[in-house]
Amino acid sequence: MSKNCVFCKIYTKEIHTNIILSNNLAFAIKDISPKAPHHYLIIPNEHVESVHEISDGESTMYVAMLDLVKQLVYKHQLENSGYRLVINSGPDAGQEVDHLHMHLLAGTRL
Ligand code: AMP
Ligand code: ZN
Repeated sequence: MSKNCVFCKIYTKEIHTNIILSNNLAFAIKDISPKAPHHYLIIPNEHVESVHEISDGESTMYVAMLDLVKQLVYKHQLENSGYRLVINSGPDAGQEVDHLHMHLLAGTRL
């Protein structure tokens, strides 16, 4: 938990947002400013800033995030049309929220 982190606040329900799916380590929400007809964010419960900061013992976090990707793909029938997964890390990638998250974009030619 990081004090001024919007995704931590969503996880602790300090900010009310519809959680589309969740499991024991991660949750998924709609992006507030969608860049495609389907734009979801897959977010670990724990505050970790980037992929390279996940410790070896925490690799189950990846599995949990990809499990939600799989569920979202079938829930929204994206398996044939396709989708893009993106993780922005650090200033050169334009990371706006310093809490690891994966974008799932779909529903148009990207
Ligand atoms: P990034 O540039 O990878 O850090 O992307 C952060 C994403 O979080 C952006 O696409 C924002 O639109 C999205 N975002 C920021 N605040 C919220 C929020 N409260 N609920 C949903 N999405 C958000
Ligand atoms: Zn956080």
